Amino acid sequence: MTQPLVIAIDGPAGSGKSTVARRLAESIGVEYLDTGAMYRAVAFAALRQGIDPDHGAGVTAVAQEMTLEISGDGTVTVDGIDATTEIRGPVVTRAVSAVAAIPGVRQELVSRQREWVRRRGGGVLEGRDIGSVVFPDARLKIYLSARPEIRAARRAKEVTDLDYNTVAADLARRDDYDVNRVHDPLRLADGAVDLDTSDLTIDEVIEVIRGLLDA
Ligand code: C5P
Repeated sequence: MTQPLVIAIDGPAGSGKSTVARRLAESIGVEYLDTGAMYRAVAFAALRQGIDPDHGAGVTAVAQEMTLEISGDGTVTVDGIDATTEIRGPVVTRAVSAVAAIPGVRQELVSRQREWVRRRGGGVLEGRDIGSVVFPDARLKIYLSARPEIRAARRAKEVTDLDYNTVAADLARRDDYDVNRVHDPLRLADGAVDLDTSDLTIDEVIEVIRGLLDA
């Protein structure tokens, strides 16, 4: 059997992962999966069902039972409901770190991510643990980073209803959670290329990654 062509892009919020992963996938003609949207979808489904985001068994059951579709245009449908906008809102964003720290949730989503790749024969996946846990044998592993103030400024531009200080505080809180959690924390995976995007345009980042792929 031929190995699937997987490109893993990990890094903290605001490092440019989503934009880079989408553009890279387009440029090489494969599909793209935003795994953060999957964790957000679980948080959305749990909150909708009145389940506390810290309740490990309850949230794991939600993850296992949820029907989740993420379409090519980024539409996220959870149990038949369009959750595209709500999963990016402040309520889900506050709850998602706790949900992502639950081992049962991670196990379920990692298995769905591997299945997604199996069906397509490859793709670009972005998240926090793609190169370290989900696909440690990925063809190329990139760890995107950027200085905290740059990441906060990028995120503040996207979420127009929140000011810079609120966004910066939220990013710092999520970074801390993601880096220090026990299960599959955010870290530079073995063999990953660390790429600081602080002073690069998206086009420059894509160019560097295309160069690494061709090398
Ligand atoms: O990428 P995004 O910021 O949308 O991810 C939302 C949250 O989902 C992150 O803060 C992190 O806690 C979690 N996540 C994760 N593992 C992934 C992707 C996201 O734990 N592979």
